[in-house]
Amino acid sequence: MQKFIFITGGVLSSLGKGVTSAGIGAILEAMGYKITFLKLDPYLNVDPGTMNPYQHGEVYVTEDGAETDLDLGHYERFTNVVLTKYNNATSGKLYYQILEKERRGAYLGATVQIIPHFTNEIKRAIEKASADAEIVLVEIGGTVGDIESLPFLEAIRQMSLEKGRENSMFIHLTYVPYIKVAGELKTKPSQHSVKELRAIGIQPDVLICRAEKPLPKAIKRKLALFTNVHEDAVLSAPDLDTIYEIPLHLKKEKLDVVISNLLNIEYREPDLSKWKKIVSTLNQIEKSSSEVNIAIIGKYTELKDAYKSIDEALIHASIANKVKVNVHWVRADDLTDENINEFLGNMDGILVPGGFGDRGVEGKIKAVRFARENNIPYFGICLGMQVAVIEFARNVAGLEGANSTEFDPQTPYPVIDLMPEQKNLDKKGGTMRLGAYKCTLKEGTLAYDIYKQKEIYERHRHRYEFNTEYKKLLEEKGLVVSGEYTAKKLPEIVEIPSHRWFIGCQFHPEFKSKPFSPHPIFREFIRASFEYKKEKEAN
Ligand code: GLN
Repeated sequence: MQKFIFITGGVLSSLGKGVTSAGIGAILEAMGYKITFLKLDPYLNVDPGTMNPYQHGEVYVTEDGAETDLDLGHYERFTNVVLTKYNNATSGKLYYQILEKERRGAYLGATVQIIPHFTNEIKRAIEKASADAEIVLVEIGGTVGDIESLPFLEAIRQMSLEKGRENSMFIHLTYVPYIKVAGELKTKPSQHSVKELRAIGIQPDVLICRAEKPLPKAIKRKLALFTNVHEDAVLSAPDLDTIYEIPLHLKKEKLDVVISNLLNIEYREPDLSKWKKIVSTLNQIEKSSSEVNIAIIGKYTELKDAYKSIDEALIHASIANKVKVNVHWVRADDLTDENINEFLGNMDGILVPGGFGDRGVEGKIKAVRFARENNIPYFGICLGMQVAVIEFARNVAGLEGANSTEFDPQTPYPVIDLMPEQKNLDKKGGTMRLGAYKCTLKEGTLAYDIYKQKEIYERHRHRYEFNTEYKKLLEEKGLVVSGEYTAKKLPEIVEIPSHRWFIGCQFHPEFKSKPFSPHPIFREFIRASFEYKKEKEAN
C-alpha cells in the first residue's frame, strides 16, 4: 500500500517548507524507502516558466524539460529522485486540463464544478506523480487560509479518507515567533492556523515549528494541548546555519520514529552519515581561512531566490574544494568602463548566469571582456555563454556591433540567433529548448578534462543559439567549441585555450549539482579561481 505525507504551511510564507519537505524525503530515503515528491501550487499560471523571477524566484528545469517551482530543485538536491513534469502542478495547469475536457464534451452534460471536478483533477495529479514510490510527499504551496489553496486542502482531506488513516498523514509547518520585549515564544498564530485546518476537516498529525530558537518542552506541551497533536509530534525547527543540517535536525527530533508510527511502516534506522560529513565539512570551511571571491553579474541581484540553484551549486563546489566561496552580487546595469575595476579587479572568478531581455546585457559583455583581458577565471551559463561569444566576436574577431538578435534584431553580425523552429512562434509558454539534451565533448579540451567523458546530458532553457555561420571564423580567431549538441551539431560549450580558465555553456549545469555530487564545472571553476588567487598572493 502506497503511503502519503501531505505537507501544508501556516502563519506566513518563506518558512522553508520546500527545504523541510526535501529534508523529510532525505530521512525517508536514508531509511531505505522509495519516495517521490509532488509540489502543488495554487496560482493560476500554467507553470512558472513565464513568471518574472522577482515574483517567483528561479524556474527549475527537470530532465524531461518541465519548467517548475524551485522547490523541485531542493527535492532533487536532497535525494536521489529524478522528477518529471508530473511532479509539479498548478491550479492553472489543472484548470487548463478541465477546460479542454469540457470543450471536448467529456463531462457529458454535467455542470463542471470546483468540487468534485477540480478536486478530482488534483487527486489525479497526485496519483500520476506517485508512480511506483512507496511514500509520496505532497507539498501544498501557499499558506493555509489563502482562498486559492482551499480546493487543494479539500482534495487532500478526501484523499486521506480514501487511502485510510494508516496510509496517510498531515504535517503542518508553522511559525512560533519570539517576542523580544516579552522574552517569550508565542504559540497563538500556530493555534489559529491549525484551527483553520481543522475547520476544513484536516487534523494535522505533526507540527514542525519554525522559530528563531529551539522550542522548550513547555511550549511544545502547550501547542500539543491547543492543537490536538501528540506532544511527541510537535517538533522544533530552529534556524540552522545550513539547510543541509535539516535532515540531521529532524532526526534529532525523532521525525523518523513519528512517521513510522503514523504510517504504520517498518522502522529502520536512517543512515545519515553522509549528511553529518557534509555539515562538518561546511563547519570546517566556515572556520578556515581558505576562501575565494566570486562575482556574479546578474540582473535580479536583490532577490537571492532568483539564482537558487547556482547558489547551491557554488556551495557544493565549496564543499568539494574545502574553500569558502564569498559571492559578490554585481548588478550588470551598474558596470561602466570607469568603475569595472573597482567591482571586479579583486575577484578570483567571474560568473555570468542565465537571463532574458536586454537589460544589463552590455554590462555583462563588459564583465566578460574584463575577465578575458585580465586572465581571470570566467564561467558563463546560458546567456553567460552567449555574451561570451558576442564579446569575442566584437573584440577579438573584430565584428563590430555583433550581437544576439534577442537584443539587436538589426545587428550586422547575429552571432547568436534563433533557429528556424523558434521563429514565428505564437506561444511563449513551454516553447523554448527545454530539458536534457545529449552533448558530445571534444577530446583534449578543458570541457573534456572537466567531465572526463565523451557524452554528457545537461539541461537547457533558452530560445537562442550560437549561430553556426560564425563558427569557423570565431574558431580561427581562437575560440574553441568543445561541446556540441550531438543531434544538431550546435555549439553547446565554448572556451578560450589561451586563457587560464574560460568556459561558457549553453545549458544550465546548476540544475544537476548536488551536495554529494558537485557539478564538475562548478567544482573546477572554484578550484581554478582558488589557484588563481594563490598565484596572485605568491606574486
Ligand atoms: N535569453 C537567452 C535565450 O533565450 C538565454 C536564456 C538563458 O540564459 N536561460 O536564448
